[in-house]
Amino acid sequence: MESILVLTHADESGSALTKQSLEAVTAGLELSARLSAPLTIGIVAENPQPLSKSLPSAGPTLAVSGLSFAQARYATDAAACAALCRAAQPTIVLAPASSRFTRVMASVAHRLGGLIDTHISAISGIGPLEATRWFYRQRVEAVITRAARPWFLLLDPGAYPAYSSQPGTASTEEITAELPATRTTVTGFRAPTQGQQTIRPDARLLLVAGAGWTKKQPDGQTHVPEAAELILGFLHATGASLGSSKSLVDQGGEGNSVLPFLTHLNQVGQTGATPRHAKGLSTCCHGEEPHVVGWRFIADRRAISLDPNCGWTRGKADVVYIADAFPVIAKLNALLEAKKP
Ligand SMILES: Cc1cc2nc3c(=O)[nH]c(=O)nc-3n(C[C@H](O)[C@H](O)[C@H](O)COP(=O)(O)OP(=O)(O)OC[C@H]3O[C@@H](n4cnc5c(N)ncnc54)[C@H](O)[C@@H]3O)c2cc1C
Repeated sequence: MESILVLTHADESGSALTKQSLEAVTAGLELSARLSAPLTIGIVAENPQPLSKSLPSAGPTLAVSGLSFAQARYATDAAACAALCRAAQPTIVLAPASSRFTRVMASVAHRLGGLIDTHISAISGIGPLEATRWFYRQRVEAVITRAARPWFLLLDPGAYPAYSSQPGTASTEEITAELPATRTTVTGFRAPTQGQQTIRPDARLLLVAGAGWTKKQPDGQTHVPEAAELILGFLHATGASLGSSKSLVDQGGEGNSVLPFLTHLNQVGQTGATPRHAKGLSTCCHGEEPHVVGWRFIADRRAISLDPNCGWTRGKADVVYIADAFPVIAKLNALLEAKKP
């Protein structure tokens, strides 16, 4: 009979479990109900006791605690996860594919003599158990079964809803992890300030900028500073995430940074990202297949393009506005500004 362990960790504040951890909890609960298999939850955190209150009391909760687990560090996180696995003796381990756990989980699987699969987007089946993942930029879907146990599955973000409940009463059992000598001291985080950060995976809306923003416009001139102002104004007013076509970010190479807030990390498409926002608005982009394939998981797709024959109009967007994006976004920004409380 299978037994399930869900591994979770605290967020940077230390006062809550990460959203991705709570998504893994939902996956664990679903799997446990389907297989009638016992479920254990493991926590890696400095102070896990209050965090366990946000968890279901369906099974035991195990935790490592102490200052060593306040920050992500390979040696201590790997030791913590391995200790939780040894204590729970699971056949299936579910964990969020956060940067913190992705970095250590292959090693934990190796220490436990198990096998690992990553980028899991769904778990189904009863016998045999089936894990689903995508290959080749979401073009090929694979369903994996394995006889080897323990089987570690790293769950991609957004594949399951985050578990939420009234504050519960689950209490934790403390597990001791044998820590190796550590050489790494985490001194803090350095990240772009909120205003500079343009990639926001949790935003409802994705705004995509295409190369058209930098092209000569009907007056025969380029209007790049104005384009930058309009795009940033829209992001500021809506909290949307910013994506880009490849053509536009490629212009940033060779020292020719056109829109300085865009990097290849913003690129959406076959050789870029495949974001999962509820809505997407493409601007000044042709909607070619290598770009649009990255929109696979965007539920509502709209585009603004001057070209009535562009890829978007050929069935790739739900709504296409054949219009000049400059005045359209300027008007939108003005309306958003006027609606501000
Ligand atoms: C192997 C391979 C992988 C690739 N991977 C990717 C990928 O991951 N992501 C990606 O994006 N591309 C990718 N590409 C490139 C892709 O095929 C296209 O070349 C690219 O997406 C085009 O970008 P674009 O639409 O921004 O630029 P363009 O093709 O130059 O289109 C600009 C558009 O802007 C419109 N426009 C101009 N001014 C305005 C205005 N004022 N208002 C409204 N519209 C305006 C024009 O009508 C035009 O349609 C790949 C290509 C290959 C061969």
